[in-house]
Amino acid sequence: EVETPLLEVAGVDAFYGRSQALFDVSFSIGPREVVAILGRNGAGKTTTLRTIMGFNVPGQGSVRFDGRLISGQKPHRIARQGIGYVPETRDAFSLLTVEENIMLGYRAGSPYTLERFLGWFPELQGLTRRRGAQLSGGQQQMMVIGRGLAPAPRLLLLDEPSQGLAPVVVKSVARVLTELRDEAISIILVEQNLAFALQIADRVIVMENGTVVDILTAEEGRRAPARIERYLAIH
Ligand code: ATP
Repeated sequence: EVETPLLEVAGVDAFYGRSQALFDVSFSIGPREVVAILGRNGAGKTTTLRTIMGFNVPGQGSVRFDGRLISGQKPHRIARQGIGYVPETRDAFSLLTVEENIMLGYRAGSPYTLERFLGWFPELQGLTRRRGAQLSGGQQQMMVIGRGLAPAPRLLLLDEPSQGLAPVVVKSVARVLTELRDEAISIILVEQNLAFALQIADRVIVMENGTVVDILTAEEGRRAPARIERYLAIH
């Protein structure tokens, strides 16, 4: 690609104490691109997102956002430069209400208002005063997507957004992510759901044992799903 990547992960090693979780991970993502990271439990998908966000500092390698080095910076500084994170743990702010959760990081002028959000997920319309802890798992998932988007990031990282959602809500999430991409937001989503990933991603990164084992277009993945399936859990 000729276009400058929005995010560039280059030769990243990451550790938990002495235990190495990522080995020489490299990939890049362009503007308006949706990339899915697939792989079994423990493959290193979450650690990859955490390293981009600054919760893990690479032992080797670098992460660049918009050409600037971000690895080594604190998560809040990385967030301020335009990266949103929707972690897998949904109840982090369980004592705050739905409205408070979503407005937490709202930046003046952000198009991702509470109203917009409630239009996407009408199920939450009557629940804005409820605390996060009082929501179902699916409702919490919708809420944390709103929270990640409120500051209007240019890159959104999502950890298993389809997990535990009813099929109809998975469809809404897919629609929202496609809409975001059309609004020039790049997305990296970690997934176990291959069909969901292939439906919305432009490209797929396959991980195993802390390394990137394959990078392919979603089109290639749809034509030859076995190329990805062999790296996923047996269902
Ligand atoms: P999952 O879907 O289960 O989250 P994953 O692909 O996201 O899997 P990671 O969570 O990134 O994988 O885990 C990568 C490796 O790092 C695994 O071997 C895991 O045991 C280890 N690991 C993850 N978190 C920690 C931690 N907090 N402390 C120590 N080791 C960890």
